[in-house]
Amino acid sequence: KTFDIAGRVALVTGASSGLGESFARALAKAGAVVVVAARREDRLAKLVADIAAAGGTAHAVALDVSDAKSVEAAFAKIVATIGVPQIVVNNAGIGSAKPAIDLTEEDWRSMMATNLDGAWRVAQAAAKALVAAKKPGSIVNIASILGLRVANNLASYATAKAGLVQLTKALALEWARYGIRVNAIAPGYVETEMNQGMFDTEAGQALVKRVPMRRIGTAEELHGALFLLASDAGSYMTGSVITVDGGHS
Ligand code: NDP
Repeated sequence: KTFDIAGRVALVTGASSGLGESFARALAKAGAVVVVAARREDRLAKLVADIAAAGGTAHAVALDVSDAKSVEAAFAKIVATIGVPQIVVNNAGIGSAKPAIDLTEEDWRSMMATNLDGAWRVAQAAAKALVAAKKPGSIVNIASILGLRVANNLASYATAKAGLVQLTKALALEWARYGIRVNAIAPGYVETEMNQGMFDTEAGQALVKRVPMRRIGTAEELHGALFLLASDAGSYMTGSVITVDGGHS
């Protein structure tokens, strides 16, 4: 089996920064036709131009995963103008740290709306398009080690990510019959806009000390797991959760 994904349409949600941007660049470098989706269209336009300048192919699509109508409209556009995505990286997400006792209804709802409902919506829209086109596909959900273990002040985030892990397994079970594989990557700590500056604080340093490899990871260090799951190299993998966390889990 091969890691080759050249020519496949690959959708990356949350591609306007951080891990998603890094995934989009890597997939494009490997020859995929990449659809970069998020809310900040200016960032997406710059990324598309960068990818084109590097010899790759990318298209930008405005998408708010917390809005069902936005997901529906984005998929209609992608399918009509680019093609059915056979690789879907469900990466869009928000972070928020607060003592559970202080979480508001709005805090809780917005976390679930993006990190759990959003991932489900995108996965279902992708599966419907793949089934209609009779094509196999690979959905890669970006969970977190915090979906597998807990830490202080992250009740809403950890609960949403744990939901995403279980959703991965449930969808894998139901969609194997369609040739759609659904797996997850559970990254450890990687510095991005979501947690910028955190690792310079005392609390952040304490977190890093608990990582067996004594450092945070880089976005590039997630690419191996992504290519394994996205390509035919992972053809017998579904419902799997790969931790990439310096030994933390
Ligand atoms: P960033 O904040 O850099 O990126 C988050 C991305 O998600 C942005 O591109 C943002 O784009 C997008 N996004 C947020 N809300 C929405 C929405 N409603 N609709 C569409 N896109 C949205 O953080 P990371 O790169 O770190 O996070 C990427 C994923 O990785 C997340 O799911 C996160 O939980 C996960 N993760 C991160 C870890 C880390 O240590 N960094 C560790 C484990 C998991 P825009 O605002 O333009 O919409």
